[in-house]
Amino acid sequence: MKIDVLSIFPGYLAPLRESLIGKAVDRGVIELGVHDLRRWTYDVHRTVDDSPYGGGPGMLMRAEPWGLALDELAPVDGPQPRLVVPTPAGRPFTQALANELAAEPWLLFACGRYEGIDARVVEYAADRMVVDEVSLGDYVLAGGEVAVLVMVEAIGRLLPGVLGNVASHEQDSFSDGLLEGPAYTRPEVWRGRPVPDVLLSGHHAAIARWRRDEALRRTAARRPDLLSAVTLDTTDRKVLAE
Ligand code: SAM
Repeated sequence: MKIDVLSIFPGYLAPLRESLIGKAVDRGVIELGVHDLRRWTYDVHRTVDDSPYGGGPGMLMRAEPWGLALDELAPVDGPQPRLVVPTPAGRPFTQALANELAAEPWLLFACGRYEGIDARVVEYAADRMVVDEVSLGDYVLAGGEVAVLVMVEAIGRLLPGVLGNVASHEQDSFSDGLLEGPAYTRPEVWRGRPVPDVLLSGHHAAIARWRRDEALRRTAARRPDLLSAVTLDTTDRKVLAE
């Protein structure tokens, strides 16, 4: 997968060269390009912002550097990326959206700063590429860079060959609509607290049932809103009714 990121703080994206995603970049599973938006400014101060029409506090990102950057990275007559624009006004970023974006060959992320980007940039891009305005949650960050780190990590770990064991993301929270239940590793007893017996039983069906029950209980306690989208069988319903 090709991933391009446009930002006025390209250094903020340095963590993408670390750990799991960094290894995927080193191995060529992800072809990463981080670009300084100021490369597409031509005044002496390399200005990317201006005051908003209609007044109000703060500054907005000017459309022209974005237009020039999009035209160079994705020329009008060539293949087009899917453009992801982080904004608190976007659709929520979820595991389902991470899955959808992981199936794309090319993603281009546009990191806003100040009070955001002139609205015409998204309109202009949408004439030739799919554009998703995406929110990380109901709070306001100072810029889109942290949102992009989150999204690239969530998307990148779904790509074939990035996780050593594919089953690990297939069993993660949200993959079956539920939160993952508690997990344990050695020793069997730690500071007087034993691991649940069933996990030591070697009985695979019983372990799977226990994990499902714990996931159901945890989801009901912490995120009951998720349950309406989960297909529940009779045993699941009995567990939830306990
Ligand atoms: N004036 C904007 C508003 O009220 O919607 C907030 C702008 S915010 C200070 C600057 C940039 O941070 C945004 O353009 C966006 O790129 C990013 N950002 C802030 N909060 C975000 C969130 N919850 N999800 C995704 N991106 C966010």
